Amino acid sequence: MNRREFLGATALAGPALALPQSSGETAGWFDRPMRWAQLTLVEDDPEHYDLNFWLDYFRRTHSDAACLSAGGCVAYYPTKIPLHYRSKWLGNRDAFGELVAGCRKQNMVVIARTDPHAVHQDVYDAHPDWIAVEADGKKRRHWASPELWVTCALGPYNFEFMTAVTKEIVSLYKVDGVFSNRWAGSGMCYCEHCRENFKKAAGMDLPRTNDPRDPVKRAHQQWREQRLFELWRLWDGEIRKINAAARYIPNSGGGASGDLDMKTIGELAPILFADRQARSGMAAPWANGRNGKEYRSTMGRKPIGGIFSVGVEEPYRWKDSVQSGAEVRLWALDGIANGLRPWFTKFSGTLHDQRWLPVVEDLYGWLYRNERYLRNEAPLARVGLVYSQQTYRYYGGTQARQHVEDHSLGYYHALVEARIPFEMVHDQLLDADRLAPLKVLVLPNIAALSDRQCEQLRAFVARGGGLVATHETSLYDENGVRRKDFGLADLYGASYDGAVDARMQNSYLRLESPRHPLLAGLEDAERIINGVARVHTRTTAAYPNPPLTLIPSYPDLPMEEVYPRVPKTDIPEVFARDSKGRVVYFPWDIDRTSGKSSRPITASSCATRSIGRRMNRVP
Ligand SMILES: [Zn+2]
Repeated sequence: MNRREFLGATALAGPALALPQSSGETAGWFDRPMRWAQLTLVEDDPEHYDLNFWLDYFRRTHSDAACLSAGGCVAYYPTKIPLHYRSKWLGNRDAFGELVAGCRKQNMVVIARTDPHAVHQDVYDAHPDWIAVEADGKKRRHWASPELWVTCALGPYNFEFMTAVTKEIVSLYKVDGVFSNRWAGSGMCYCEHCRENFKKAAGMDLPRTNDPRDPVKRAHQQWREQRLFELWRLWDGEIRKINAAARYIPNSGGGASGDLDMKTIGELAPILFADRQARSGMAAPWANGRNGKEYRSTMGRKPIGGIFSVGVEEPYRWKDSVQSGAEVRLWALDGIANGLRPWFTKFSGTLHDQRWLPVVEDLYGWLYRNERYLRNEAPLARVGLVYSQQTYRYYGGTQARQHVEDHSLGYYHALVEARIPFEMVHDQLLDADRLAPLKVLVLPNIAALSDRQCEQLRAFVARGGGLVATHETSLYDENGVRRKDFGLADLYGASYDGAVDARMQNSYLRLESPRHPLLAGLEDAERIINGVARVHTRTTAAYPNPPLTLIPSYPDLPMEEVYPRVPKTDIPEVFARDSKGRVVYFPWDIDRTSGKSSRPITASSCATRSIGRRMNRVP
């Protein structure tokens, strides 16, 4: 299907799929802003920054909401709370208050930014127990500003001191919300409060390992998560007591690697912001849109902002410089295309490089003129790409990037290349209602699945849904413990045969005849590359003519030795089954190999497409 046909088909599908504009939960101010502006003040800004320049820039960009620096590490207003450090450049000014008043005059939504992760020496002196502690017992100095100290997120500094700060800000300025940055701590903390509270809650001493599969680490991770949700609820409750329409909005959320449960986040938050500000290194340009899909998977149609930086987000952190206009535009637009409402963030009110100003003004102006097309939207995709925080933690462990994230990125890339519209699906939301709009589910090495989740997937296929699974999908339970067999063995028509090749060199796949539709586009090839890792499988049902069979590894040097020792086997490397719904299972890492070699592998996107076509339900 080409783009025009797709637009035609989706135009027809649109009305039937349109969901209500907003639920009761989002009935507040949350759905109104379409263009967010963030000015993160630096400490000397109160003396140097040009208030009117910024208010004028917000007006020129049609920004309808602002996030402004208020307090935490540095207070930009005349705070009365002891130990709440005021900017040395504040003098008699109220930099935060002036900005709030100016934005209000422009009818903007205003949320206050706090940052509780660092404090000055006076806080250390008064409350040494508020400071985070390293494994060796030393208090944690700030890694980038050694004169500052890093705070413990889970003790009285946040629960008491920052609660008072939050209440003061909302009382004085009647802001619409408080957004805090780095509120969840900066690594493992061994302070006295963490020690005592964890002991009380779990009966254990703090873990000494980073491996999330370790039982103590796992208990700590769950305790920490609970504690942070408790903090979220505390701050939100205190804010709402003062201003019922306001909310606490943590800088939180993410995909499989997110450290807080996305399902709970989706239930708690009326609005949320994805904070992946720019790409670094060789990140794909579509990675920002992926944020939108990940957040939407649990937030549903509640508004989600996409924070983009005009700065350079490389490890060296040249915070005062800016990206090229094309880069800024590319990143922001991919977010917008995936439902994120753009939020530009600029550090420092004093500009050292103005090249970004017309870029954001132009982009926001375009969005302003076309805003009506970007509201009341609903995903029309019929393919869901599953992601799994439990797989990331308990199966991936310390190698989750390679064993979990790379599979997901590879499949994501294949779907983008194949022009197949898709959503992301959280593995805790596989019930029939949630999956109703979807016709095909893709499980890129979603290794850790509970019996219940497997049952939900079985039910999806029984309802006629298509399923594509790769590698070790369902070979582990929800705790990351390996099963005797795949949880989905019956769907695959294949059982685990007791071994996984973790690294194959120079192995191939033989394309068998008659050619299966999966192999469309590969007519001139009799074999293609195999992946790098492979699960050994045993066929459990009659499976004549497997479309792909294994050609085992053979030497790749010296060149004289490079010929297959075994030209043909009957070991299937894909299981394609028709039942009520279609199931395609690749025992090898088709997704990761595809992503890592940066070349689309036709079969994975073909599998998704051919299942959909056959059902006449996806392009
Ligand atoms: Zn602590």
